Amino acid sequence: MKSVFPESEPTLLKVTGRNYGYPVRRIFCVGRNYVEHVLELGNKVEKKQPFYFTKSLFSLLDSEKNLTYPPMTNDLHHEVELVVAIAKPLQKANREDLKGSIFGYACGLDMTRRDLQSIAKKQGKPWDMSKDFEGSALIGEITEFEKVPQIRKANIKLFLNNKLQQHGRIADMIYSVDEILLDLSKYTQLIPGDVVMTGTPAGVSAVKPGDLLVAQIDGLTELKVKITE
Ligand code: MN
Repeated sequence: MKSVFPESEPTLLKVTGRNYGYPVRRIFCVGRNYVEHVLELGNKVEKKQPFYFTKSLFSLLDSEKNLTYPPMTNDLHHEVELVVAIAKPLQKANREDLKGSIFGYACGLDMTRRDLQSIAKKQGKPWDMSKDFEGSALIGEITEFEKVPQIRKANIKLFLNNKLQQHGRIADMIYSVDEILLDLSKYTQLIPGDVVMTGTPAGVSAVKPGDLLVAQIDGLTELKVKITE
């Protein structure tokens, strides 16, 4: 059967140093994964199990584009995050299954309409409209797994207009990348094309048109985004 509308092309993320791209299919996000960030938003720290939310494919923006300041907010926040790109199917995975399951890593920004999220949290309503909008998933080039053997030792940083605004270490995550994949694969079958944004360290803050965001994780290609009107 033919589609009534033109078929859309898959969204490809650049893979550093390669001439092929990584086709993104789904975007999963982990909430509250760094102690200091949990505290700064007034939440309680507890290690029970991670929780997730998702962003649609249409929220994805790669590093070579500008982010247009979205509607319905006066408090758009940056959240710098390590992004994990999946390489093979994972379902009810055990530690052995994780071998070869990560295609690579990228710097990402989980952009958040914090004012809408605060209202949703107070009212016990879903976060979708605060987390899933055009340009809310900013993801840079993917660096292949083999090229970053020491990701756990990496620093994660966000510079806002060249000033260091967020700084943490991947090792500070409450749930490690492996723990997240083991847990998430209980709920759904992860397949190539799925990416996971793994939570943000402390220091989230508001941005405005004209601002420049630079996300850096040791060993990965940096992500640079300009906010426009
Ligand atoms: Mn986040």
